[in-house]
Amino acid sequence: MTFLPSCQDVQTHLTEYADGSLPMRRRVGIWIHLRLCKACARFLRGMKALPGLAKRALAPPEGTPEEAAVALAEVQATLRKRPKA
Ligand SMILES: [Zn+2]
Repeated sequence: MTFLPSCQDVQTHLTEYADGSLPMRRRVGIWIHLRLCKACARFLRGMKALPGLAKRALAPPEGTPEEAAVALAEVQATLRKRPKA
């Protein structure tokens, strides 16, 4: 199942995302969302109370290359299917 998070998902799970406790697919989805969504990028920059969070959150997801490639391909496929807003 492919999963691209909503803005609410991203903002709710940002700290878990940054500390690496989310599964790879969700992390890739959030990572991509943060690059596509100005609102969430701004939200992330506003979280200055958590030192280092923004820097960690914007680093590429860690994991095996195979996992990352599969997850990324699924997210990209989803993005291609989504109508442009
Ligand atoms: Zn967003």
